[in-house]
Amino acid sequence: MKALKADYLIVGSGAIGMAFADIILTETTDSIIIVDRYGKPGGHWNKAYPFVTLHQPSAFYGVSSRDLGRTKIDEIGLNKGLNELASGAEINAYFDDVMREQFLTSGRVQYFPMCDYKGDKTFVSMLTGEEYKVEVNKKIVDATFLKTSVPSTHIPSFIIAPEIQFMPLNNLPDVTTPPAGFVVIGGGKTGIDACLWLLENNVDPDKITWIVSRDAWLIDRKNTQPTMEFFNDAIGAQAAQFEALAQADTIPDLFDRLEKTGVLVRIWKDVLPSMFHGATVSQLELEALRRIKNVIRLGRVQRIEKDQIILAKGTIPTSTNHIHVDCSASAIKELSIKSVFDGDVITPQTVRSYQPIFSAAFIAHIEVMFETEDEKNDLCAVVPLPNHDTDWLRMMAVMMINQFKWGQNKELRKWLVNNRLDGFSKMMRSVPKDDAKKQAIINRMRKNAMPAMMKLQTLIPRIKRK
Ligand SMILES: Cc1cc2nc3c(=O)[nH]c(=O)nc-3n(C[C@H](O)[C@H](O)[C@H](O)COP(=O)(O)OP(=O)(O)OC[C@H]3O[C@@H](n4cnc5c(N)ncnc54)[C@H](O)[C@@H]3O)c2cc1C
Repeated sequence: MKALKADYLIVGSGAIGMAFADIILTETTDSIIIVDRYGKPGGHWNKAYPFVTLHQPSAFYGVSSRDLGRTKIDEIGLNKGLNELASGAEINAYFDDVMREQFLTSGRVQYFPMCDYKGDKTFVSMLTGEEYKVEVNKKIVDATFLKTSVPSTHIPSFIIAPEIQFMPLNNLPDVTTPPAGFVVIGGGKTGIDACLWLLENNVDPDKITWIVSRDAWLIDRKNTQPTMEFFNDAIGAQAAQFEALAQADTIPDLFDRLEKTGVLVRIWKDVLPSMFHGATVSQLELEALRRIKNVIRLGRVQRIEKDQIILAKGTIPTSTNHIHVDCSASAIKELSIKSVFDGDVITPQTVRSYQPIFSAAFIAHIEVMFETEDEKNDLCAVVPLPNHDTDWLRMMAVMMINQFKWGQNKELRKWLVNNRLDGFSKMMRSVPKDDAKKQAIINRMRKNAMPAMMKLQTLIPRIKRK
């Protein structure tokens, strides 16, 4: 077994491992070993479908020390008028550049692609069989915890007759013969992406059957824009959600207010969503999706036979001339949480809602800046990843307490304002004192923050699982 030595051993060179390593390199003189099963950094983006893009603007994705994209507004397509979304290819190229041009040239990073981590500080090359044992001076970082699942590597949980044309959405661009119709299985973000891709490629909406086992609340992408021209939308939505919380009497009343103020949106106004995964859509995408009328709400698919699809609550016809598109992978499989700092292991998780990558960078900074495990964990309470609609409340409760604690520390406030992955602190800080309209939005946020936190404490115990 070959012996190696480093201060940090990072398992996983996905976005989380890369964002963590970047802060260690920027803020310390420590050495790092990075191990990954894939041949290139970027994690699941290596296996993503060809037409995948980020769900959020590129402007605040990636590692802290390097810009991603050109901070430009899209002029065409369904994201028109909003900040650009990096494509999968761009993200992969970006992480490859970060690794080659920053990490490896620093002389402080040893990168082991195509290697399987076996636990106990050992890993093995999947190409040569060579085994390695690492002497870790400081910490092991488990950047594999979220277990992102993507359609190309996911095994569907239902049975498929051999005659049926079935594919992950990755294979859609390989279709050469028009089918009788497309059956998209999955109502989450990949299902949305598959439907939008078909519509953008002029498929008649009536040729699309969309199997949606649960409808979702979505986030209007306009409210996630980290550039000043969107201040009223982005910070306005934050003020609106605090206000909605402060004023809501019941949980249905809260969701009603969140929808009325545009904080949450849904595709179909006549169906009350029961899911929330934090996916974003633009208004143009919503309009496009509403053109699909054949939406099947009969629960999960159990079996696809050659002439019918058996679902939990009914059956619909299909044929061997239809293409069935698998979008049933749930992007994040790991919904449990654990302490971020635990002895010699750090497990990066989300400490600010919707922002796992910012969170990894923040956790690395906390690791560098603070001494004791208690102090570190106190600032890094894990924001649970949402699944059900009402998880929005639990997520907000932890996130608001984290934000409050971070705001008490001057150095952390400064770090947040200057970190490109933060997105919004700089925007808030740069509002001129005499800009009455923007200052009024900030004041609404301040005024409602504490009542919102208190209301969460009364609403959360009332959550009933359906
Ligand atoms: C289509 C899609 C769009 C998304 N858009 C956004 C977005 O806009 N913004 C956002 O913040 N998030 C987005 N996400 C969420 C996304 O999951 C995160 O952004 C991020 O890419 C997750 O990174 P990760 O490092 O946790 O996981 P992964 O990318 O899965 O990386 C984990 C790595 O660990 C390696 N690994 C696992 N086990 C081992 C082992 N035993 N030995 C060695 N290596 C191992 C894997 O090979 C992999 O490279 C999106 C997700 C999807 C699927």
